[in-house]
Amino acid sequence: MIFHVLTIFPEFFAGPFAHGVVKRAQDAHLLDIRIHNLRDWAFDRHKTVDDRPFGGGEGMVLKPEPIFLAVESIWPQRTPARKVILLSAQGRLFTQAGANRLSQESELLLICGRYEGVDERVAEHLADEEISIGNYVLSGGELAAAVVIDATARLLPGVLGNETSAAFESFQETGHGRGLLDCPHWTRPAEFRGWKAPEVLLNGNHEEIRRFRRESAVEKTGRLRRDLVKPGPQGGE
Ligand code: SAH
Repeated sequence: MIFHVLTIFPEFFAGPFAHGVVKRAQDAHLLDIRIHNLRDWAFDRHKTVDDRPFGGGEGMVLKPEPIFLAVESIWPQRTPARKVILLSAQGRLFTQAGANRLSQESELLLICGRYEGVDERVAEHLADEEISIGNYVLSGGELAAAVVIDATARLLPGVLGNETSAAFESFQETGHGRGLLDCPHWTRPAEFRGWKAPEVLLNGNHEEIRRFRRESAVEKTGRLRRDLVKPGPQGGE
């Protein structure tokens, strides 16, 4: 899968993709992350990408021209398998289901806003979707783009080994919690400062371990994330 990122801070991305699973997946050519500098499509002497907002008020707004030109030159042809995503606090909330959906695409182009945001014509006439990573305001779309790429990339076939398959994780319908949180995990030592790892995980009975994991996923979700617990047949929580 190919991810393009359009940003005024290309150097920002030296960090997030240089480690662990995502780095290994790039080295193995399972994914390709291409960072593009928005200023390469600003042609005045100062490579201006922003301007004052119409109607007055605080801050600056990213201009439409460089963004449209960038997308049109990265993709002279738009196909349905090529999706433009605008990172925006006003977008649809990004979830694990969203990551699963995006992982089916072959090529994504993520536009990172800055300042007060991006000229609305980008959302209206260029982006296929507007995505927010949470109900808070970041100073730029770069962190959000890194989050979307990371969460999507680890769902691609071969990116995680079988042992740590994404299928078993929090929010995945196929996980121990079936759409709830993942079960809690323990490792050696079996006793640490007097706190013991659950006995059942040490006894090698796979059926009991499976049941314990399912029950502890449900218990933890009920305790920390009641919002994820689906209403029962009586309409209760
Ligand atoms: N004035 C805007 C915030 C602009 S923040 C508002 O109040 O809605 C600057 C840029 O950061 C945005 O253009 C967007 O690209 C990015 N950004 C901020 N919060 C975000 C979020 N929750 N999810 C995704 N991107 C976000």
